[in-house]
Amino acid sequence: MPATSDRHVVIAGGGIAGLAAAWRLQQLRRESGAEYRITLLEASDQLGGKLQTEQTDGLILEAGPDSFLSYKPAAIQLARELGIEDRIIGTRDTGDGTFILREGRLEPLPEGITMLVPTKIKPLARSRLLSARGKARMAAEYFVPPKTDEADESIGSFITRRLGREAFEHMAQPLLSGIFAGDADQLSLGATFPRLRDIERKHGGLIRGMLHQRREAANNASSGPSSPYPPFVSFAGGMSELPQAIISRLEDVEIRTGSAVRQIEKSAVGYQIRLGDGESIASDAVLLGTPAYASSGILQLLDGELASLLKRIPYVSSATISLAYREEDLKGRQTGRGFVIPHVENRELTAVTWASNKFEGRTPDGLALLRTFVGRAGREGAVDLPDDELMSLVRQEISEILGINAEPVQYRINRWRRAMPQYVLGHVDRLKRIDQRLERHPGIELMGAAYRGVGIPDCIDSGTRSADRAHELVTV
Ligand SMILES: Cc1cc2nc3c(=O)[nH]c(=O)nc-3n(C[C@H](O)[C@H](O)[C@H](O)COP(=O)(O)OP(=O)(O)OC[C@H]3O[C@@H](n4cnc5c(N)ncnc54)[C@H](O)[C@@H]3O)c2cc1C
Repeated sequence: MPATSDRHVVIAGGGIAGLAAAWRLQQLRRESGAEYRITLLEASDQLGGKLQTEQTDGLILEAGPDSFLSYKPAAIQLARELGIEDRIIGTRDTGDGTFILREGRLEPLPEGITMLVPTKIKPLARSRLLSARGKARMAAEYFVPPKTDEADESIGSFITRRLGREAFEHMAQPLLSGIFAGDADQLSLGATFPRLRDIERKHGGLIRGMLHQRREAANNASSGPSSPYPPFVSFAGGMSELPQAIISRLEDVEIRTGSAVRQIEKSAVGYQIRLGDGESIASDAVLLGTPAYASSGILQLLDGELASLLKRIPYVSSATISLAYREEDLKGRQTGRGFVIPHVENRELTAVTWASNKFEGRTPDGLALLRTFVGRAGREGAVDLPDDELMSLVRQEISEILGINAEPVQYRINRWRRAMPQYVLGHVDRLKRIDQRLERHPGIELMGAAYRGVGIPDCIDSGTRSADRAHELVTV
């Protein structure tokens, strides 16, 4: 039913958070029979934000994310609502997992490492990833007393304190900071991996916590169906299936691309939104799914203090470089799903994924697809290299690590400038202060990757919750 009331909710940013909010509002408006307008404003000429997939010559090339976590329910729930749950695919079971680069060699991550914690002694003992001393220190985690004060600490300090510096530098750091492209000695434990801190507090240590969880899982083994999905999932046609499904089902939402929001001011009845081209739009609620630095500029006139809090959330740039090879040129050099590269290896590459091993159907027969990542906190320069220089740097490192010198039959470079928000020490406190400022502005919502989770399910969750509050506001 088209909306006839003059109440209006505006969403800025057509990434997954903004699209999830638009979908939720449309659903709530339908279910409640309420009448209000919904408008989605996106600055660029395409929707989906970081979820961009290119299909070319039988290849499925992900520009940004290639998967999401299934145990956080928001993305699967959304796919279900959109009728595309049957398009979800899990990672292939290639049996040879993830590798980590150690002094130029690719070493498998020992079997039984769960949440960074060794749960099986033999594979750890046999592994060449850590020295005998490093392994002994890791196993001694069982006896390390828990930290009892409430103060936050960096994820680097936490892992070093619990598992030792070697386990941190050569195992935990590359596994953890892949998610944020961050510096683990700067990232806040409380904001990035609160579960690790909670396990320490509750059980006295990580190994003790894992053993407890194993006992619980064994006791509950027969008490219910387990998840039908492996931990990482995607869509058969790539990640952009999700935003595309939302867009095709947004029937009563006005969508405007090429419409950048510049600023928001208070008006007599709500807010006045000014766009880049000078147009002004009245709205009762404004849901900002824009990066924190963009939201900072947008909110500057409305609340300078809020704007300055948002401006202090740092961002890092990165790039993904996809390379398709003829299988015959690889001579069996494909290693599992890929590998991560610790900062101490001093390389530009931070991670490499065999996309064609990870998910079914990413290449036509006879081709293999490699996805590489450059750019991280403190080392972003490579992202801005001209294409030819970036390609030769990537190919040089691929040659040194994997011995692959063949010419790729196809490649794509996708640069993501100021794309990865960093939850540095102080983030949790900053969020509290942001929330306090927001209380002064009913109807203004902040959602998306900058705040309480960068993963796709987290962003969907934040969009959904913002939509719930906005719906309540305009329907009272
Ligand atoms: C290379 C890479 C790989 C990743 N891999 C994974 C992964 O495998 N799994 C996973 O779960 N997560 C992954 N992430 C993280 C995840 O993709 C993002 O956190 C998430 O997609 C962010 O969604 P969002 O809606 O918050 O923001 P975005 O997708 O950034 O959307 C924000 C939108 O706002 C628009 N905008 C900006 N300014 C304005 C303005 N003034 N007015 C209007 N619109 C504006 C932008 O154009 C953009 O479309 C990855 C991220 C990157 C960069």
